[in-house]
Amino acid sequence: MELQDFLHDLNRQIRDQGDWGKVADYIPELGRVAPDQFGIAVALADGKVLEAGQARQGFSIQSISKVFALACVLGRIGEQLWSRVGREPSGDRFDSILLLEQEKGRPRNPFINAGALVVTDELLTGRSPQQALSEVVGFLRQASGDDAIHIDKAVARSEAQTGHRNAALAHYLRSFGNLKNPPDHVIGTYFHQCAIEMDCVQLALAGRVIAGLDCAPALLSPVKQRRINALMMTCGQYDGSGNFAFRVGMPAKSGVGGGLLVIAPGRASIAIWSPGLDGWGNSLAGTLAAERLAEFTGWSVFG
Ligand code: GLU
Repeated sequence: MELQDFLHDLNRQIRDQGDWGKVADYIPELGRVAPDQFGIAVALADGKVLEAGQARQGFSIQSISKVFALACVLGRIGEQLWSRVGREPSGDRFDSILLLEQEKGRPRNPFINAGALVVTDELLTGRSPQQALSEVVGFLRQASGDDAIHIDKAVARSEAQTGHRNAALAHYLRSFGNLKNPPDHVIGTYFHQCAIEMDCVQLALAGRVIAGLDCAPALLSPVKQRRINALMMTCGQYDGSGNFAFRVGMPAKSGVGGGLLVIAPGRASIAIWSPGLDGWGNSLAGTLAAERLAEFTGWSVFG
């Protein structure tokens, strides 16, 4: 069976299986999205993009933005970042504050919220929130070749009204001296960064720079690609990362909007969206789809 036929078949299988999980409602605007939706797009090394289901439906990329904010910061300050944030899985929820006290304000990795706030703080160094956000959105537009990518202001506002945990994390980081900018600036920028809206086709195209595809614009060095992929594999699905590596075997990053960016290095960049989440905060049907795609293609990095 050809990959395009498989994707149509996968779309049917996912719609038939009936278990969609629960949408994230701690951000009220995301709580309004119907869970029973699914889309997938696969960008291949030769420049082709295959799609099925609601691959052109925009969604809130949320934590998937952390991958691209990290790419921007690594491009700017490189190795210096690692004195402020670690590279180990946390084994805790994405928004946990627990380890921050024990580890004196140095977050375990750049994909948990505390670590992402430090990355956004770096992004803000010498720049206004507007400029920092333009850098991330600009990176995504260049990586995908699509200037329509934008921030959904209603989602950013909705998170700002209820994002007390992230505010707590930012103030706590500041108390350890690991936040240079005022906490309000950092969380305001972070909420807007998370509220970037994209569809699966745009996200799969942007992910080409992480996958190092031949057709990708030259925005990331091979070393940075390798490192970002390593972090996605070990930390990309929070404390569900081990399970995801076991089932799918490819580096990936999830977002509470139900998006999933999965990387088959050198072969493909895959974007999947289904807004219902599992208990770890990762897309439930999206993970199942990634597992079936990995079985069909043999793209697991573990052979
Ligand atoms: N904006 C979300 C938060 O900070 C991102 C979390 C996620 O997508 O996992 O809670």
